[in-house]
Amino acid sequence: MKSLDNNINDNINDNKLSASSSISCDNLRVDCEKCFGLCCVALYFSSSEGFPENKDAGKPCINLQQNFQCKVHENLTQMGLKGCTAYDCFGAGQKVAQVTYNGEHWRKSPEYAEEMFQVFLIQRQLHEMLWYLIDGLKFQEDHKIQEKFRAIISKTEELTNLSAGKLLALDLVPHRMAVNSLLKETSEMVRKKVGGSNKSTLGRKKAFGGGLNLMGADLRKKDLRGQNLSGAFLIAADLRGTDLSGADLIGADLRNADLRGANLTNCIFLTQGQINSAKGDLTTKLPYTLITPLSWKNK
Ligand code: SF4
Repeated sequence: MKSLDNNINDNINDNKLSASSSISCDNLRVDCEKCFGLCCVALYFSSSEGFPENKDAGKPCINLQQNFQCKVHENLTQMGLKGCTAYDCFGAGQKVAQVTYNGEHWRKSPEYAEEMFQVFLIQRQLHEMLWYLIDGLKFQEDHKIQEKFRAIISKTEELTNLSAGKLLALDLVPHRMAVNSLLKETSEMVRKKVGGSNKSTLGRKKAFGGGLNLMGADLRKKDLRGQNLSGAFLIAADLRGTDLSGADLIGADLRNADLRGANLTNCIFLTQGQINSAKGDLTTKLPYTLITPLSWKNK
């Protein structure tokens, strides 16, 4: 059997999903320049979760300027605005702004504002699914399973191109279930390959919500390869120098987790938002799909 590294290298051109699909991780990166500050308006947020203030959904953040740029963008980390740095729309913002509404925005067309915000929330779910599916595909070596992935990626991409009205009428539950089933199979296959098991060897109980409670844990001497860390609470955990190859990190809370020197190159289902909320530096090894946060470079 090929190693995880070889398998990923073989699939590194996963962006060639099919002749009819052009989607890649690059399309799923946040591009605030092409958005109209949708996440900074559409979402409800609270200051206790690392946002600048408590605000209702649909109300613009106090730091959102008329040109849709964030007034404090350069200082989000220093200001401790973890909610902002950790939020990842997976490119749904620019899709809604530029494709679904073809450049119309909520300030110019306030009568559509509420609808745009609802569409953004749906589009974000679809883009998030695409992110995980593209990530999962790169680990697959079975051609039949690869085809299943390509088909569901194309279907999901098709959904993102629907009109606002059709997006609002979508029942995402069956589609999400089909996506989740493929992701779960992938997680099991990858973790097994690196010798992980379904049983955690970390000696921690599950917290509310189903993820392992590893808040503040010193995990430097633990073998984390192939561990199921999906939904784990890793807030402020010490992961320095650890090898997370084949570990499933879907939905794990990595706020303030220390990733200096950690190897995340071949972990599964990691997102830019998770990385942005953690601590790291230039010795942290990331999957090729993720970008080293600016704040890590200045250490
Ligand atoms: S502080 Fe900036 S990034 Fe955060 S919600 Fe407000 S405008 Fe958006």
